[in-house]
Amino acid sequence: MHVSDCIFCKVVSGEIPASVVASDDECVAFDDISPQAPVHILIVPREHIDSMDKATGSHGPLIGNLMLKAAEIARQRGFADDGYRIVVNTNGDGGQTVFHIHVHLLAGRPFVFPPG
Ligand code: 5GP
Ligand code: ZN
Repeated sequence: MHVSDCIFCKVVSGEIPASVVASDDECVAFDDISPQAPVHILIVPREHIDSMDKATGSHGPLIGNLMLKAAEIARQRGFADDGYRIVVNTNGDGGQTVFHIHVHLLAGRPFVFPPG
């Protein structure tokens, strides 16, 4: 479902331009507009889901596939062995600002844990 005021629904539909790095029938992956690492890719489902907080059991395969897509991009781009971080910010304290569920794929520098 396309949610009319959702930025990532508009990226999925092409209404807002993005640097798309991969796409399939379930998801679109594109460069973050404000990269926090040398590689910062967002993987979003074509289906609008607000957040992990709103995901239900029927979304399980889709959400799993977002993770697998991140791993696939990492291998294809050649940084899988060096490592990377997958992040899913959720609601206010989680730092979520766009309420269309998305996976951040960050790479190209070391990351500390716990994150800030
Ligand atoms: P969140 O804070 O919700 O986990 O992540 C939202 C991300 O979306 C942020 O890293 C932000 O830079 C990115 N972002 C926001 N608007 C746009 C946009 O219009 N295009 C792209 N490519 N990224 C965006
Ligand atoms: Zn959306």
